Amino acid sequence: MSRFIRMREMDNIITIDGPGGSGKSTVSRMLAGKINSLYLDTGAMYRAVALAAKRHGIDFGDGPGLGGLCKMLDLRFDTNEDPPRLFLDNQDISMAIRGPEMDMLSSEVSAVKEVREAMVSLQRKMAKGAKLVAEGRDMGTVVFPEARYKFFLTASPETRAERRYRERVERGESVSRNTVGEALKKRDRQDETRSISPLRPASDAILIDSTRLDPWEVVEEIVTHLV
Ligand code: C5P
Repeated sequence: MSRFIRMREMDNIITIDGPGGSGKSTVSRMLAGKINSLYLDTGAMYRAVALAAKRHGIDFGDGPGLGGLCKMLDLRFDTNEDPPRLFLDNQDISMAIRGPEMDMLSSEVSAVKEVREAMVSLQRKMAKGAKLVAEGRDMGTVVFPEARYKFFLTASPETRAERRYRERVERGESVSRNTVGEALKKRDRQDETRSISPLRPASDAILIDSTRLDPWEVVEEIVTHLV
């Protein structure tokens, strides 16, 4: 593909990265709806890999085994639903990939080189020709480094933990604030310190602190940067 066509494609991509509880999923989904773009939830893809690895009994230390699994994965988003639903081998796994166990397992599996290579390649394939809001940890740094618009959302640790806690309670789980806060901290540390594609803002990303903003205010802030 010529560099020119690739640059044009990157005009249609908005990347939104950030740690857990920074609000990026809600904001990305709302933004995509507002500007009529596809929404790509790359965290859900790593969660699907973790679920599939667990179901197939593949050890998380077995890079080649995980790489082989990723090549065979039949993953599909149904974007007619809001939020989009994720299917693995034609089975709806949208619920199965949420919850504390998949939080931690997805973070572990996403540090494996073979998994990252497979997912990055799949994410780029999914983006081909699309107008896209891509959400994750490495969208601006690794997957779409030439994207025209890049954002990195943050919020105070207390706010992020509180948001996660409320999500869990709304889902009917019985958890303590403290447990949720500690798990979030552990996962962020894991994501920030891994050697491949650690969570960090791209040097040219616009940072938005969502501590005191509701999701629509963040969307409005993002829109002011789009020309
Ligand atoms: O965003 P979400 O919490 O669903 O992501 C689950 C996990 O997947 C994260 O903790 C992170 O380890 C991993 N992930 C990643 N790169 C992405 C998106 C998610 O490593 N682009």
